[in-house]
Amino acid sequence: MGLGIGLLGFQTTIANSVTLSGTGVHSGAEVAITFHPAEADSGIVFQRVVGEQTVSEFRAVSSQVGNTDLCTILGFSPATSIATIEHVMAAIYALGLDNLLIEVHGAEMPIMDGSSAPFIDAIEQTGIKALAVKRRYIRILKPVRIESGASWSEFTPYDGMRFEVEIDFDSPLIGRQAWKGDITPSVFKTELSRARTFGFMRDVERMWAAGRGLGSSLENSVVISDDNTVINIEGLRYKDEFVRHKTLDAVGDLALAGAPFIGCYRSYRGGHKMNANALKALMSDPTAYEIVETATQRQRVAKREVLAVNAP
Ligand SMILES: [Zn+2]
Repeated sequence: MGLGIGLLGFQTTIANSVTLSGTGVHSGAEVAITFHPAEADSGIVFQRVVGEQTVSEFRAVSSQVGNTDLCTILGFSPATSIATIEHVMAAIYALGLDNLLIEVHGAEMPIMDGSSAPFIDAIEQTGIKALAVKRRYIRILKPVRIESGASWSEFTPYDGMRFEVEIDFDSPLIGRQAWKGDITPSVFKTELSRARTFGFMRDVERMWAAGRGLGSSLENSVVISDDNTVINIEGLRYKDEFVRHKTLDAVGDLALAGAPFIGCYRSYRGGHKMNANALKALMSDPTAYEIVETATQRQRVAKREVLAVNAP
């Protein structure tokens, strides 16, 4: 991945630190995060900070994921965990960023407008720079599939990074929607990054009563009324914003592989839990993938050609 950013095959970080602040969707508290540049091979690291004190640090990889009921959480204890990382991770992954230290003042990411667009903007404002170390990719070698009731998801070999996400809601407004495409920074930006999180009014009310989702509002969620209309006055950003957001979530969840994958990820009626379980299933089968340093067949062939030319 990161094939479109002109930094082909090399790891990246950001040029300078950049801060964002806003409301945490679950706590309702004000939170601030700062993206800092980081060295090659350090990965994406989240650091929870209180005052000057670092209380926890997690590399954004699937083994560090705790709960995935409402959002994706790093860590296993509320005192130290970092929640709602998926929209940030989607932006980081789609832009081809390999190394970043994210300083978090609070227990979760700011929800911003409920999409990945504000994170993309912040990263693009500071700029992306290449590091002198090659990037590694996870190339899918054979199908890995998981099922849960009517839901399923699978990885299959594919020369690129492709997502095919389908949802089927028992709501005439959403119904059955599918998004399919190869993810590049520009495809992600134009087709997925602005899609907002969504929910049904009845669920929002139930969540509020349970003291959850305290920061959710029409400024950061598409809310669907009991009579199946969008309550938000501005309407939808894309006609099929719902499946686009589910795809954005899947991009963010699979970013927890710790390296870009080369393959196709399909899911039907999935969610954070299913994405996390699919990734676990892939990672637990070492015959299903290999770690490579070049992203595409063409690059691999090109590399072989260079080797052939250089051969004595
Ligand atoms: Zn989401």
